[in-house]
Amino acid sequence: MIRVGYGYDVHRLVEGRALWLGGVRIEHTLGLLGHSDADVLIHAVCDALLGAAGMRDIGYHFPDTAGEYEGIDSKILLEKTVALIASKGWRVGNIDATVAAQRPKLSPHIPAMQQTLARVMGVEEDCVSVKATTTERLGFEGREEGISASCVCLIERD
Ligand code: MG
Repeated sequence: MIRVGYGYDVHRLVEGRALWLGGVRIEHTLGLLGHSDADVLIHAVCDALLGAAGMRDIGYHFPDTAGEYEGIDSKILLEKTVALIASKGWRVGNIDATVAAQRPKLSPHIPAMQQTLARVMGVEEDCVSVKATTTERLGFEGREEGISASCVCLIERD
């Protein structure tokens, strides 16, 4: 049996925060604001996986009112998400994600993001696709007010 899922997330770009995307720290003058490390890409992946399994969303399982998740590395949330769907018998098939950011240039970091996500989810690297786009300076991403990420996934069980 297979199921598809979709996830979308946005975080605000601010000064004085580290920029984490796909579990990788990226040098930039701005970083994403959030209760966790605000890794918008990982959050979209988690929501896609939870959605595919019919298991609500990341905010339901890891509420930002809970002190235990303050500043947490989103790789831990992804690991927990994979364990949550595994508790219902689901394995990750593949994920395909897109990050929309005007800056910085993400292309050089994509192999590291794919490797990191694959390792955390326990899947082969070719099961993980990360794409990056600008929004041609349009919208909040284009004005560098924030970064958005969307993700589709396939999960499978016997
Ligand atoms: Mg988020």
